[in-house]
Amino acid sequence: MTEALPQFTLVRPETLDDALIALQATPDAALSAGGTDLIVRLRKSLVGSDTLIDLTGIKAMNSIDPNENGLRIGAGVTLDQIEHSDLIAQTYPAVVKAAASVAGPSHRQVATLGGNLCLDTRCVYLNQSHWWRKANDFCLKYQGDTCHVAPKGNRCRAAFSGDLAPALLVHDAEVEIAGPTGFRREPLGDLYVEDGATHLTLEPGEILVAVNLPASIRTSDYEKIRVRKTVDFPLAGVAVACDTSQEPPRLWVAVTGTNSRPFLLDPPDDPMLSPADEAFFIALQKQVQKAVSPQRTTMIAPHYRRLSVAALAVRLARRIL
Ligand SMILES: Cc1cc2nc3c(=O)[nH]c(=O)nc-3n(C[C@H](O)[C@H](O)[C@H](O)COP(=O)(O)OP(=O)(O)OC[C@H]3O[C@@H](n4cnc5c(N)ncnc54)[C@H](O)[C@@H]3O)c2cc1C
Repeated sequence: MTEALPQFTLVRPETLDDALIALQATPDAALSAGGTDLIVRLRKSLVGSDTLIDLTGIKAMNSIDPNENGLRIGAGVTLDQIEHSDLIAQTYPAVVKAAASVAGPSHRQVATLGGNLCLDTRCVYLNQSHWWRKANDFCLKYQGDTCHVAPKGNRCRAAFSGDLAPALLVHDAEVEIAGPTGFRREPLGDLYVEDGATHLTLEPGEILVAVNLPASIRTSDYEKIRVRKTVDFPLAGVAVACDTSQEPPRLWVAVTGTNSRPFLLDPPDDPMLSPADEAFFIALQKQVQKAVSPQRTTMIAPHYRRLSVAALAVRLARRIL
């Protein structure tokens, strides 16, 4: 059954101030960047508003700027720009790899960094047509009262599947957020909470403006597990970064796709364990398996995702350590 795009009002501010004013005037409006995810959700009646505020005309959000502390990437920068940025590739290789792994090339020409970081959570019981969801009494995330993935629980288990977040997390990224009361800056990890229904900590009226990356001497990498290698969301994605100037080298690991939020996890902290020893990688594998919490949100078994995300973390750690 085709799902026609419903009627909506499009507001097209040219400055951040105008966007904030528009958002205050219509608090339930949805922000639209590349629209690659939002328009799909609009067709499936998953957007609770008939007003969209298009952010693409705001030039101040569309540049990549080096500064004395590192690099500032506007939320409106496209994934294609990130994929082809020498500035980003030189210092933050995982970020370029993560951007290049999103969907296909034409998709990346419009999909943005902000849209990727603020991507809605996904679930097999949610990303369906309206009539399918209605036939199943909807679900806890939208119009229903039960999470079909974990019916005995009281929270939505939909999974966050953006590729960029873990790659930015292992480089200690911070986000700049603008809202009715001004600007704030916080670690990227604080943008998320473990709740599939409301996984973002953005307050009403707030817009993600930019991501700041500190100067870095870390090497990094990103890979994801997916059903189709050409175009697909991550069933699980892992970013790793390593500072080899420390002895023993320090490792950072972050994951996406397994929980309602992307997150950094602690690498093995036993001082007796060195990456020179096989025991370090065995400990890392166990630690990742314990930290992640994949649910029945995809057609692929949670247990498979738990084992494979841990194996992927070990593979990447061996590669860069
Ligand atoms: C076929 C297909 C394949 C895909 N494959 C992948 C994949 O492999 N990996 C992946 O990560 N994603 C994938 N996606 C999802 C999506 O296309 C990308 O995540 C993309 O980066 C979203 O960016 P966008 O600019 O198009 O966001 P939009 O669709 O415009 O917005 C996404 C969400 O972010 C919010 N938002 C956007 N900008 C801001 C901002 N500045 N401040 C606050 N909120 C904001 C919007 O309100 C919306 O809720 C896929 C989508 C499709 C349709």
